[in-house]
Amino acid sequence: MRTLLLTPGPLTTADEVRAAMNRDWGSRDEQFVAMSERVRARLAGLYGYAHTHVAVPVQGSGTFGVEAALQTTLPRDAHLLVAINGAYGRRIATIAERYGRRVTRLDIGDEAALEPAAIAAMLAADASITDVAVVHVETTCGVLNPLAEIAATVQRAGKRLLVDAMSAFGSMPLADIPFTTLVASSNKGLESAPGLAFALVERGHLEACDGNATSLALDLFAQWRGFERDGQWRFTPPVQVVAALDKALDLLDREGGPAARQKRYENNCAVLIAGLQRLGYVPLLDAAIQAPIIVTVRAPSESWYGFERFYDTLGEEGVRIYPGKTTAAPSFRVGCIGALDAGDMQRAIEAIARTTERLRQRHAALA
Ligand SMILES: *Cc1c(COP(=O)(O)O)cnc(C)c1O
Repeated sequence: MRTLLLTPGPLTTADEVRAAMNRDWGSRDEQFVAMSERVRARLAGLYGYAHTHVAVPVQGSGTFGVEAALQTTLPRDAHLLVAINGAYGRRIATIAERYGRRVTRLDIGDEAALEPAAIAAMLAADASITDVAVVHVETTCGVLNPLAEIAATVQRAGKRLLVDAMSAFGSMPLADIPFTTLVASSNKGLESAPGLAFALVERGHLEACDGNATSLALDLFAQWRGFERDGQWRFTPPVQVVAALDKALDLLDREGGPAARQKRYENNCAVLIAGLQRLGYVPLLDAAIQAPIIVTVRAPSESWYGFERFYDTLGEEGVRIYPGKTTAAPSFRVGCIGALDAGDMQRAIEAIARTTERLRQRHAALA
């Protein structure tokens, strides 16, 4: 039985993607160098940014990409406004401060979407702000932020924008959005193996980023120069992960691109929410701001429930969920992205129904 990873990543992958990793490449093999170039071009081209931005991959999970992007693309004397509605936004602020950047936070808690007008007001009130960072889909609760409106607001104010699009890239609309830098990773909406993050950076800006980074390995300027010079990664490349991503991008094309994938995820999300509600579970978010990525569910208040127990019992059915991340309410999270369809979501609902019943009965027998 296939394990269903209903989590914020790593996610369920297709057999073809895992099979693409089943061989060795030397880092200087012509075939591998060509593959790296192809993947870089496809990442920049997926939403039409190939003419303005360059794709710079970096080894590591998504957070490695966020760290690399922040320290490379923010000048040392930058003043960064981070608009926050969840843990990933807070992480951006923490990282930028670690690297000694001046940071201002606009934190609205975890359960609402960011408001462009509030960002505009902050920018109007403090002319020293040079850069703005936002998360597109805040995976903490699953909130969809109005990225196009936020980007237009930041552009009007003449500031640079950095977007953490980790959970959205590959499935959510991202074309024609004015950003300087966007960060994502291989293992969420692109449905590939974990181990690689990447940034799309406006070429003209990246050219001016020499010397911003204080880290050697997480310097996207140096990484980019390496690729431009000889097509090489500066340090051991995750060759199998690159091969898997190349295959995963084939599958994304075959599916019909991000718009088709978005439809599948929306359908998954609808099946999931309807099924959970039938079982008496209550989603935390308003439907209007719920992204089709991950659903936060209020934890049952009855005494049969405990997350560990629930997680373990559900795990016996081959279904993996995730604990809640928000402090706003006791909750758990169920993702709807990855190589999954409505039938898989239905299977997950049936497993959740059986698990709920088993735990209730066990509890009643003990009482
Ligand atoms: C998953 C995710 C990240 C990065 O997480 P890693 O565990 O480092 O891969 C960052 N931001 C958002 C919005 C995410 O969903």
